[in-house]
Amino acid sequence: MRRSDTSWDEQQKLLADAKTLAEFANLTPEGVESFRKAHRDFFPVSWWTYKPDPPSDDDSMFRAMHWPDMQWQIVQRLIRDAWRKSFQISTAGFVTLLGTVFDPEKMGWDETKERLPVAMGWDMINVKDCPYHTVVRWLVGQSWRVKQCRYEKCRRCFVAEYPKRLYCTNDGDTSCFWAHRKIDKHEGWKENAEQMNKSRRDDYDPKERRRRYLRDKKREAYARRNAKRR
Ligand SMILES: [Zn+2]
Repeated sequence: MRRSDTSWDEQQKLLADAKTLAEFANLTPEGVESFRKAHRDFFPVSWWTYKPDPPSDDDSMFRAMHWPDMQWQIVQRLIRDAWRKSFQISTAGFVTLLGTVFDPEKMGWDETKERLPVAMGWDMINVKDCPYHTVVRWLVGQSWRVKQCRYEKCRRCFVAEYPKRLYCTNDGDTSCFWAHRKIDKHEGWKENAEQMNKSRRDDYDPKERRRRYLRDKKREAYARRNAKRR
C-alpha cells in the first residue's frame, strides 16, 4: 500500500499548502512578517521585497489607484480575484498567477532595465517552482474547495475539506458558524415576537374584540336567515 500512502501524504501536503495560500489571500501588511516566519519556503525569499516599476502608462490616476507598491500585493490581488472565481480562471489568468511569483535575483534581468511584474515567454524558464506554484496548479482542479466564508462580517478566503462547508470556522463559540447562527436565530426570534405581539394585541384590544363580536353576530344572523328559507 505504499503507493496510496504516498498519494495520501501528497494530498495532505497540498491541502496544507492550499490553506497557506488562503492565509496569504487574507493577509494584511501587518501580518506579513509572521506569515514569512511561519512559511519560509512558500514564496522565494527575495520576492517579498521586490518592487516592480509601475505600468508604462502615463495615466497617473491609474498608477495611484490600481498599482500597489510591492509585488506580493499584486499577487495577493490576483489570488483574491481567483478565489472569488473559485479558481475557475482563464488560461491567461492562470499563466499570470504562475509568472508573478519568481526569484528576482535569479531571473538574469539587467538591473538598468525595467523591473517587470510578470515573467513572460523565455523568462518563464527562470521561474523555479515553489510550493506556491504547485498548489495554484492543484487548486484549478479543486474549485469546490475554494470558498469565501458565508458569514458577512468575515468573508475570509478558506479551503473546504468537504463540499458543503460554508464557514471558515465551524467549531467553538467564536466560530463564524455560530456567529452566523446567532444572527439567524436573533432575526427569527424578532420576527416571531412581532407576530405574537400582534395576535396578543388583537386578542385584548377592546375595539378588535367588538369588531369580532359584531362579525360573529352578523354571521349567525345570516345563517339563521338561510335556515328559515329552507
Ligand atoms: Zn469566517
